[in-house]
Amino acid sequence: MDLEKTKASLEKRGFTVQIFDTCEQAADYLDENIKNTTVGTGGSMTLDALNILDRLEKTNTVYYRNRSKDPADARKAMFAPVYITSANAVSENGEIVNIDGAGNRVAAASYDKERLYYVVGINKIVPTLEDAMVRARTIAAPLNAERLHRDTPCAGKPGKCYDCASPERLCRNISITLGKMLSIAAAEVIIIKQELGY
Ligand code: SF4
Repeated sequence: MDLEKTKASLEKRGFTVQIFDTCEQAADYLDENIKNTTVGTGGSMTLDALNILDRLEKTNTVYYRNRSKDPADARKAMFAPVYITSANAVSENGEIVNIDGAGNRVAAASYDKERLYYVVGINKIVPTLEDAMVRARTIAAPLNAERLHRDTPCAGKPGKCYDCASPERLCRNISITLGKMLSIAAAEVIIIKQELGY
């Protein structure tokens, strides 16, 4: 994949971009730059790999939807001024694709933030928007369905989406972010040269 092209495309769309070799370097960067504020996240295998939420909790209030059973905390995560998420795919043209079932992640990443961070491993970067959609539907969703023990026909079988009617279907909204949203003051994409998450 062409990281320089990806960086230039994202910058043209209004994002700032940082590229790190390792999770540790990216986690140090986030830890240094996020202090004394409220941080929200919807949960992410990539963020778990960075162990960044435990670190941020030492100097911030962190609302983490998947960690709390209280629906009020999920809402606080969505409305936190700083939000951190991963992405299901990023194209070299700078389009960011995310699939969501509950809607918290795509909603939070679309509206009214002081700062928004996308943290993505190089495995998420693909040449085109079409590739990004295929990746989200046929790789990320089936692997997440397996991880979350969802009863869907794709669970654990990456390679095909059945456009299922399962009550436990994960893919209910696909967000294609084409540029930094007007209501988000600053949005940053952190690319890590490691394979992370789905
Ligand atoms: S629509 Fe259904 S089959 Fe397709 S990826 Fe989503 S959960 Fe799996």
